[in-house]
Amino acid sequence: MKIVLENLTKRFPGRGKKDKTVTAVDKFNFEFKSGKLTGLLGPSGCGKSTVLNMISGLINPTEGKIYFGDEDVTCLSPELRGVGMVFQSYALYPHLTVLGNIIFPLQNLKGKDKMSKDEMIKEAEKAAKLVQIEGLLSRKPSELSGGQMQRVAIARALVKKPKVLLLDEPLSNLDARLRLQTREEIRRIQKETGITTVFVTHDQEEAMSICDEIVVMKDGLINQAGMPQEVYDSPENLFVAKFLGTPPVNVFSGEVKNNKLYIGDEGVMDFPCKDGEVSVGIRPEGFEADVNGAFSLKMHSVEVMGRDKSFVMSHEKAESEAVRAIVPSDSIPEIDGDRVRFSLKKEKVFVFSKETGERIKVSYEA
Ligand code: ADP
Ligand code: MG
Repeated sequence: MKIVLENLTKRFPGRGKKDKTVTAVDKFNFEFKSGKLTGLLGPSGCGKSTVLNMISGLINPTEGKIYFGDEDVTCLSPELRGVGMVFQSYALYPHLTVLGNIIFPLQNLKGKDKMSKDEMIKEAEKAAKLVQIEGLLSRKPSELSGGQMQRVAIARALVKKPKVLLLDEPLSNLDARLRLQTREEIRRIQKETGITTVFVTHDQEEAMSICDEIVVMKDGLINQAGMPQEVYDSPENLFVAKFLGTPPVNVFSGEVKNNKLYIGDEGVMDFPCKDGEVSVGIRPEGFEADVNGAFSLKMHSVEVMGRDKSFVMSHEKAESEAVRAIVPSDSIPEIDGDRVRFSLKKEKVFVFSKETGERIKVSYEA
């Protein structure tokens, strides 16, 4: 079932004269595709949780509409929406066993949905099996690892067979190895159940690796949405370019003159657009060591990473101290003095307006 958000807006009132109204979410328009895993991605405070909590019904929007399929659920209470939620803090009941925790949401069902104890246990066992904790049902949460606790929380969210699964930074409390493993698990569970899922995270790598689609947010606004690779390959603005990718995109001050892109004194590539100052983003994989290349940088060190090498360099026009190029491991820099030359891969170079940060697109075809 798709989820449609129409002009969804949330303003929190300030608490005093100096504390102004916060617009946490600003005219959010989006359709979360049915049966897909969509990542809501952005820095802390950009409004991700507020969007999620409005979808679940925990927070009422100030303006706008929420549809589940064709049904307007904007005014429907959370219990009636059929959503399962998982939070960063697993929020398990410490005095209940794993089974008791998973069953809990089923015990409050009323009317025709009411279940017998046996039915509840059967459903809980099914959910536990799905998240692979069927051997832990009699344990207490204090006897579980973080990863296991989060699985219990996911099983508890799934046991009522929700139409929508909402995950708010579910991996943030786990250590690095478990984070990796649990994110694969979430992907598997989502595929197996086919539940429309919204996954909130501030971690771009996490979102990129498991989501069918990502929505990049900043200050309550959608900056860009699309398939992860699409957004990475073609960022609409400087913020999105910088937010996606590790190592991050390298940003330089540049200038376009006579259809050529300059960084410092060097005309690094053809760029047919109107003259003016620009910001240039070059992905680390966009550099090709080339003694005849047009772009030179100061070489500092080479980090060997197995499959690839990373050249750590600097440039007077770069926004950050270090400029990183990722090159194949057999690439040997020819250093002239302390500088090394590159040609650039056009599709890995993004040019942005200095004023607005919006991408300036040109077609390279003659
Ligand atoms: P995220 O989940 O992306 O970190 P949030 O949705 O939690 O961001 O918050 C978005 C903005 O709304 C922040 O500026 C935050 O301080 C503000 N905010 C969130 N909840 C409340 C609240 N209950 N009262 C006032 N301001 C809030
Ligand atoms: Mg949050």
